[in-house]
Amino acid sequence: NSLSQYACDHLAELLKGFGLAAATPLSNWIDGALVAGEGEEITLINSATGEALVSYCDAGTALIERATQAATRGQREWMALTASERGRRMNAAIRGLEGHEEALAQLESVVAGKPIRDCRAEVGKVREMFEYYAGWCDKQHGEVIPVPTSHLNYVRHVPYGVVGQITPWNAPMFTCAWQLAPAIAAGNGVVLKPSELTPFSSVVIAQLLECSGKFGQGLPKGLINIVNGLGKSTGAALTDHPTISKLVFVGSPQSGRMIAEAGARRLVPSVLELGGKSANIVFADAKLDEAVAGAQAAIFAAAGQSCVAGSRLLIERSVFEQVTSRLARAAEQIAVGLPSDEATRMGPLQNRRQFEQVTRMIEAAEAAGARVLTGGKRPEGLPDEAHGYFIAPTVLVEVTPDMEIAQQEVFGPVLIAMAFNDEAEAIQLANETRFGLAGAVWSQDVARAHRVAGQLRAGTVWINSYKAISVMSPFGGFGDSGFGRSSGLDGLREYTVPQSVWVETAPEASVAFGYGSGV
Ligand code: NAD
Repeated sequence: NSLSQYACDHLAELLKGFGLAAATPLSNWIDGALVAGEGEEITLINSATGEALVSYCDAGTALIERATQAATRGQREWMALTASERGRRMNAAIRGLEGHEEALAQLESVVAGKPIRDCRAEVGKVREMFEYYAGWCDKQHGEVIPVPTSHLNYVRHVPYGVVGQITPWNAPMFTCAWQLAPAIAAGNGVVLKPSELTPFSSVVIAQLLECSGKFGQGLPKGLINIVNGLGKSTGAALTDHPTISKLVFVGSPQSGRMIAEAGARRLVPSVLELGGKSANIVFADAKLDEAVAGAQAAIFAAAGQSCVAGSRLLIERSVFEQVTSRLARAAEQIAVGLPSDEATRMGPLQNRRQFEQVTRMIEAAEAAGARVLTGGKRPEGLPDEAHGYFIAPTVLVEVTPDMEIAQQEVFGPVLIAMAFNDEAEAIQLANETRFGLAGAVWSQDVARAHRVAGQLRAGTVWINSYKAISVMSPFGGFGDSGFGRSSGLDGLREYTVPQSVWVETAPEASVAFGYGSGV
């Protein structure tokens, strides 16, 4: 059909523009060059039409070997530069994106099935993250420890060497830059595997960063390597590779557990940025217009395919009817449409598995007694050819905390609303989950807002806001939402190890202190 054909042609043109077009698209960036995969064929599906988009080949084990070797060489070269030179080169590298932003956004929109305006915003984040971490290159001071001996003791923050990163399909460019930037700012080489469903944008970003020579000397060849393929093949080969000395994973709790286990087998540490079931608490004294707008953005942005989605709306009983009916009306106004359409505010779900999971979870919730206030089915008014993975913005009421829909991450445009009677019950409901990624409190009572925020078991809490996120501020989870932190100084520190150095300054006193006294 014409919609599918147009997307295929448009993608082919974009891949060609970035030099990725070949018999099978060049889907890896290794040692400063585009390389085709060598493993099984993977076919990407157009999220809007459900038809085939393009096929590429899984990277496979041999390419992981090449990528880790390249990263080892690239890292050595990188660390031979001064810290301020690394900062200058990161800043020069990011300028490599200039003039390519729109094509990159278009590429992602077609492949990820994500609205074009969201993709443009995501490209902007890539720049922001590299600029922020470029500034850290020459500011990673160590510390001098006032040890009680005649020694000088100081601590340096040294890079791991080569780190392995694995990212999901919901925000491929964001998560790529989010982890690449601090990793190299801290002095590491990187091998990154994007989701097999969104392989190309990370390859293009790495290529543009490394080929930014005209803006000043850029990154060493091989510092950043992108390998594409399935989790069970290329992903597992990466996590098991002996050169990789730290693993950073962004994705689902199920896969996260496998990554942490793979790390544990080799005694390699991991950072896990996993899913969420975040609570959005609305007290009756909140500014309700703002709370409704915030709740709507919290769940329906990115069609709910966001780790911090505010998927559980907890509303004080006296305003429950008012808030839910206003939300349902607002949900019905959202422009759901094709990712390529400038007017689209919410696109399809990214893939069939996700679509089937969301559909099944809505049906199971209804069977368990929940009621669909709005949505729950394919939205109206879509073009005939849009047979893809669309689900209308959905609000469910009459939900109880024991239902699957109240406990498991849906990762779709599905909001559940539950009523509470008082502050204590709101906190209890909010914390009644294995996840702990984010949460929000809406109230004009300042003391209460802070009191409740302080009681939420969540890595990020907003007051009278939702989804404010900055590369400067630490981000991460409790419980099934993972461990370790990304962004800010905490995110940078995940990529270094403290090394304690002792210098003897008075040998006689040292002898008295007792060499060999044992630890
Ligand atoms: P996923 O776990 O299915 O896949 C994530 C990545 O892991 C992919 O690249 C996949 O190929 C790889 N993978 C899977 N099994 C592997 C294995 N055995 N070894 C090595 N790699 C393996 O997740 P997804 O469906 O792509 O993403 C959605 C999930 O990501 C949601 O749960 C969402 O909440 C979460 N997420 C979290 C954050 C965060 O910052 N906390 C951000 C974005 C997405």
